[in-house]
Amino acid sequence: MQSFFARTKKKGVMKMKKIIVAGAGHGGIAAAALLAKQGYDVTVLELKKRAEMGHDWHDVMAKSSFEDAGFTRPEDGRFIPYTNTSYVAPSQKTEIAEPYKVSEWSGYIDRKELLKHLIGEAEKAGVAFRFGVKVVSVACDCEKVTGVRVLERGKIKEYAGDLVIDAAGIDSPVRRTLPGTFGVKNEISPKETFYTWRGYFENTEKKLTDPTNRVFFYHNNRPGMDWAITDEKFVDILVGGFRPIDQKDVDLALEDFRRQYPYMGKMIRGGQFVKIPLRRTLPVIVANGYAAVGDSAAMTEPLSGSGISLSLRAGKNLADAVIAAGEDALTVEKLWPYEYNYYQEQGNRQISNDVIKSILNSLTGRDVDFLLDSRILTLKEIASGGVPQYKAKELLEKLNLIKKPKIIPGMARALSHLTQIDAVCAKMPETYDAHKVAVWKKAYEAL
Ligand SMILES: Cc1cc2nc3c(=O)[nH]c(=O)nc-3n(C[C@H](O)[C@H](O)[C@H](O)COP(=O)(O)OP(=O)(O)OC[C@H]3O[C@@H](n4cnc5c(N)ncnc54)[C@H](O)[C@@H]3O)c2cc1C
Repeated sequence: MQSFFARTKKKGVMKMKKIIVAGAGHGGIAAAALLAKQGYDVTVLELKKRAEMGHDWHDVMAKSSFEDAGFTRPEDGRFIPYTNTSYVAPSQKTEIAEPYKVSEWSGYIDRKELLKHLIGEAEKAGVAFRFGVKVVSVACDCEKVTGVRVLERGKIKEYAGDLVIDAAGIDSPVRRTLPGTFGVKNEISPKETFYTWRGYFENTEKKLTDPTNRVFFYHNNRPGMDWAITDEKFVDILVGGFRPIDQKDVDLALEDFRRQYPYMGKMIRGGQFVKIPLRRTLPVIVANGYAAVGDSAAMTEPLSGSGISLSLRAGKNLADAVIAAGEDALTVEKLWPYEYNYYQEQGNRQISNDVIKSILNSLTGRDVDFLLDSRILTLKEIASGGVPQYKAKELLEKLNLIKKPKIIPGMARALSHLTQIDAVCAKMPETYDAHKVAVWKKAYEAL
C-alpha cells in the first residue's frame, strides 16, 4: 500500500486544505477562524442548534484571550467585573480571602453571548457552520485520520478533510473512537472528571458578600468544591464533586447555602449537571490528520476556572502550526509544534494545579480543615490568580514540622511529584520523535 506521506507528496495537493472541526468548542472556533482568514476551507460540525449554543451562566475569563486568538474583544459593558475570592474550609471556621481588588484583566461573560460573538466572527472570516449535526466517530485508515462520520438529518454520512480538529469536549466521539495505534488517550476517566451542577437564584435583597465570590472546599464533607457568587440580581451557585454528584448532593448543598444566604429566592437560570476534565492536558493530542483542542484534550483547569482562555489560545497555537506546514501533509510531525508550543506557553503551568487536586482528592474533610486551619495550605498553594505560586520544597518543610501521620504519607508522595515537574517538562521533545515522545509521556503521566 502506498503510504500517506508518499501519496500526498506525489499528488502535490493541499493548495487549499480542507479542515473539519468536530464540535464548536472554543479552541476549535478560534483555529477555524484563523485558518479561514488564510483561505483554508473550514467546516464546523456542531451537535446543538444555533439558538441552543452555550450554557445558561456566566464564565470568568481573561479579556485578552480574545485578541490572543485573533478575535475582537467585546466591549467592557458585556463583562461583569471579577472581584476576588475567599476560600472557606470544610468546617467553615477558617476563610482565607484574596487581597480585595477588582481585576482589570478578567471578567464574567454570559456563555451564550460569548459563543454568539465567536461564531459570528468566525462566520465573517469564512467558516461554514453546520448545526444539528452529530459526529458519531472518527473516519481513518491505518495511518491517518481522514475525516469524521456524522448523523445528519437521520442519515449517516462522512465528512472528509486533511485535518480533523477535535473540539467536541470531554466526551468527544472522535477522540474516543481513535484506534489505539494513534497514541491518543481515548477516555477521560471518572477519577479525572469534575462533576458540576450550576444554578442562578434570585437575590431578593440585592445583597453582596465581600468578596462576592466564596469557594467552599469539601462543602458538607463531599470531596469537591462548591461556590456561591453574589450579584445584585442573582446568587450563582455551583456544586462540584471530585466524584459523581446527584440531585441529593445538590439539595443538601442548597440547604446550607439557603441558611447562609437567606435572600436566595427562586431559581431563575441553569440547573444543569455538566462534566469538566480535571487532569493535566492529555500527553498526546496530535496524530496524522488529527489535533484535539480544549476539553477534548483536557486543557481546562477547573480549580482556577480558565478552560475558555486556555482553549482559545491553544486554537491559535494550532492554527499557527497548520499554516507553518504550508502545502505539506498535516502529519504528526507537522502538528507536534502545536502541542509543544501549547505546553511551553500554558500546559506546563497547569500541572501543579493537577497535583494539588490529587492531594485534595486523597484527603477527608477533616484533613482539609487541618491543612487550612493550620495555614499549611495558604493562598500561595490554592489560588494566586489561578496558578499556585508555592515552592514544593517549602511545603514539604512545613509538613515535616507537623506530626499528622495520616496526612503526611499521602501528601508527601504527591508533593514529591511537585518537585519533579520542572525536570519532566524539560524532557518534552521539541520536534516529534516517537521514541522520545514515549519516554516523556511515561514520565509526564507518572507525575
Ligand atoms: C459549571 C461550569 C463552569 C465553568 N466555568 C468556567 C469559567 O468560569 N471559566 C472558564 O474558562 N471555563 C469554565 N468552565 C470550563 C469550560 O466550560 C471549558 O473548559 C471550555 O468550554 C472549553 O471546552 P471546549 O470549548 O473545548 O468544549 P465545550 O465547551 O464542551 O464545547 C464542545 C462542543 O462540542 C459539541 N459537541 C459535543 N459532542 C458533539 C458531537 N457528538 N457532535 C457534534 N458536536 C458535539 C458541544 O455541543 C459543544 O458545543 C466551566 C465549566 C462548567 C461545566
